[in-house]
Amino acid sequence: MKSENKNNTMPLCQPERPIPAPPMLRFSPTAWAKLLFLRDQGDTEVTGFAIAAAEDLLLVEDICLVPQTCMSASVAMDDQAVADFFDEQVDRGLKPGQFARIWVHTHPGNWSQPSSIDEETFWRVFGRTDWAVMFILARGGQNYARLQFHVGPGGDMDIPISVDYRRPFAASNHQAWKEEYLAGVHQEVLVMPREVNAAGSLAKQGHAVPFGADADWFDWQMELFGDPDDFQEFQHAVKP
Ligand SMILES: [Zn+2]
Repeated sequence: MKSENKNNTMPLCQPERPIPAPPMLRFSPTAWAKLLFLRDQGDTEVTGFAIAAAEDLLLVEDICLVPQTCMSASVAMDDQAVADFFDEQVDRGLKPGQFARIWVHTHPGNWSQPSSIDEETFWRVFGRTDWAVMFILARGGQNYARLQFHVGPGGDMDIPISVDYRRPFAASNHQAWKEEYLAGVHQEVLVMPREVNAAGSLAKQGHAVPFGADADWFDWQMELFGDPDDFQEFQHAVKP
């Protein structure tokens, strides 16, 4: 009996199978270079979908932009363009898990945490998927990646990222990336309150304008500052 116990060196509490490594969002060097290139083309956010490897859904092999309206602190994708993009990927033979699960966007400053608008967008666009990732890359280099599950009990976890050099990867193609950027990104110029009448008109036409720049802003401005001339005096007074 004693010799049998001697051979049994594994403690009873040790798991029989090794614990799997926590998930990590990985980028091919080409996809990472393209994302940096797109991020630095303008002063606004840009947004797109990651294309993942068929056999590894957290390995990003490309970043695809869809037509979008970008401002310094937010971005809006064209719904029809997103639908067209999904159709194109299906026609290419890709599965939704490869092109419709990882949402990528950039922040022009140093802050990579998601805004309330980001959270709302993530939930609205990806909330019905089985799983999804929100990835944010700030111009300063900070990044944020969250893997979220919408099946079973659900849940989410922040995950690390890396650039994976272990596989073969394509060369950079700045010309093609630039063309994709120019074709997809429409920059919306923020209208300042001084141009309140123009801003109100733009808002009515469906353009994105900053908070307070729509037609109601004029009434609000009058309430706060009285006559518009007084408001302009106030603006001059607070200018650095
Ligand atoms: Zn954001």
